[in-house]
Amino acid sequence: MVNDCIFCKIAAGSIPARLAYQDDQLVAFYDLNPQAPTHILVIPRRHLPGLAEAEPGDQALLGHLLLVTRRIAEQEGIAASGFRVVINTHADAGQSVPHLHAHILGGRRLGWPPG
Ligand code: 5GP
Ligand code: ZN
Repeated sequence: MVNDCIFCKIAAGSIPARLAYQDDQLVAFYDLNPQAPTHILVIPRRHLPGLAEAEPGDQALLGHLLLVTRRIAEQEGIAASGFRVVINTHADAGQSVPHLHAHILGGRRLGWPPG
């Protein structure tokens, strides 16, 4: 738990969020400002600033996170129609919260390339 980290607080339950999934390593919750009909964030419970700071020891965690995104997409009914998993990293990608999070977006046709 890192003080003043909003996603650490959501993982700890001290800031409320509408949860979509949780296990011993991960928490998933609906984005406050959804950019698609389904927009969910998946975060590790442990504070990790982002993908750029991930280390070889995080391999199992990151693999688990990716498989959980698929599981959530199935649960949300967007696995067959299609979904996108995005991990914005540092300023050029628009990362605004420095606690690793994967966006799951779906429920409409998504544009490519991203803006
Ligand atoms: P980023 O821009 O860092 O890739 O994504 C951060 C995301 O977190 C944004 O989509 C934003 O709407 C979401 N977000 C920021 N604060 C909160 C919050 O307190 N609760 C929830 N549910 N989502 C949040
Ligand atoms: Zn954190």
